[in-house]
Amino acid sequence: MGLKLNRNYRNLKDSYLFYGISQKVAAYRAAHPELPLYRLGIGDVSRPLCDAAIRAMHDAVENQAKAETFHGYTPECGLPAFRQAVAGYYGRRGVRLQPEEIFVSSGASDELGDILDLFDSASPALIIQPAYPAYVDASIIAGRKVSFLTGTPENDFLPMPGKDTEAELIYLCSPNNPTGAVYSLDQLQQWVDWANTRGAVILFDAAYEAFIEGDLPHSIYETKGAETCAIEICSFSKTAGFTGTRLGYTVIPKTLEREGMNLNAMWVRNRTTKTNGISYILQEGGIAVLTEEGLRQIRESIRVYKQNALVLMEALDTAGVRYWGGRNAPYIWMACPDGMKSWDFFDLLLKEIQVIGTPGEGFGACGEGFFRLSSFGNPEETRIAAERLRKLLMRG
Ligand code: PLP
Repeated sequence: MGLKLNRNYRNLKDSYLFYGISQKVAAYRAAHPELPLYRLGIGDVSRPLCDAAIRAMHDAVENQAKAETFHGYTPECGLPAFRQAVAGYYGRRGVRLQPEEIFVSSGASDELGDILDLFDSASPALIIQPAYPAYVDASIIAGRKVSFLTGTPENDFLPMPGKDTEAELIYLCSPNNPTGAVYSLDQLQQWVDWANTRGAVILFDAAYEAFIEGDLPHSIYETKGAETCAIEICSFSKTAGFTGTRLGYTVIPKTLEREGMNLNAMWVRNRTTKTNGISYILQEGGIAVLTEEGLRQIRESIRVYKQNALVLMEALDTAGVRYWGGRNAPYIWMACPDGMKSWDFFDLLLKEIQVIGTPGEGFGACGEGFFRLSSFGNPEETRIAAERLRKLLMRG
């Protein structure tokens, strides 16, 4: 017989997006070492961790130095204080969760793939595109069929399920990467009702919830009935700058059951088998982020990113360019001018004004003709980049 590999890897398309960008940028830099580059392409944060998190992690490190305060393995599903802190965070918006419904993780990316362990690979996934590429690739690696619902300007990049929509597992991301679109409570309720009617399960990616302004839902559990059809995956990466520190959480309600099996209990079994917990030091940092003072401090960083987004949106407004997002998400999704293709627009920006963005085509075929700008950069660079962009776009 011989060893067989997971041949689903053969079905993956080359991940050209970020590799393609870095290749083009490296070539340009080699040819023009004297020119500064302005990065509006990154999905990574640039502001340091907040003081509350740093202090808590320092204290935790000190604790590890003394026998009396040393921590060995932490519970696989999370420190009780961490789970309680996350439950308290949801409670602020009136969402009541039990701490045992919250699982610590090392970030949303890990969970988006790992969570598929709960479902038979014969169950197809429905992905809203344009989308964060990991949904498609994790599903394909698991041998799952994927289908797509397409976000367009006509539906404000917020497609809804129709009578004919077929799916058993649905990825929803709100606020969305890359479009910045956010589902309203009424729209999320329609998704939840639809999922409950068919016995489908929604995987709700809330990685950008902290960027929401005003009265839009931060969590799918703000709807009625989500506790019987939804898993929520969230992260401290974009909320609190933990991209390089790695901490997140996943919510699986105890009332979520299918085929007589309880998904919360299955995930406890999964975590206790496949992990040995997440660093005590990081969880202490996460707990500190979720205190009153920690939340005040992370809002300050988010305010800086939002100011960057305003600067970019003003430039696009002045140039008369259509765009989406920017207000409830760190991303602005703009239409490429004159019907240009997104990689052509990427090349133009790099060559003419040394600004680096992200071609929409990398988020799915329906992203062609669009371009993502990120507000995660440094304010001064963002201001210069916005001014260059405005001038280029107005030149016609
Ligand atoms: N989900 C979305 C929509 C993202 O854009 C990202 C990262 O860019 C992630 C999840 C992954 O975040 P993490 O750093 O928690 O793995």
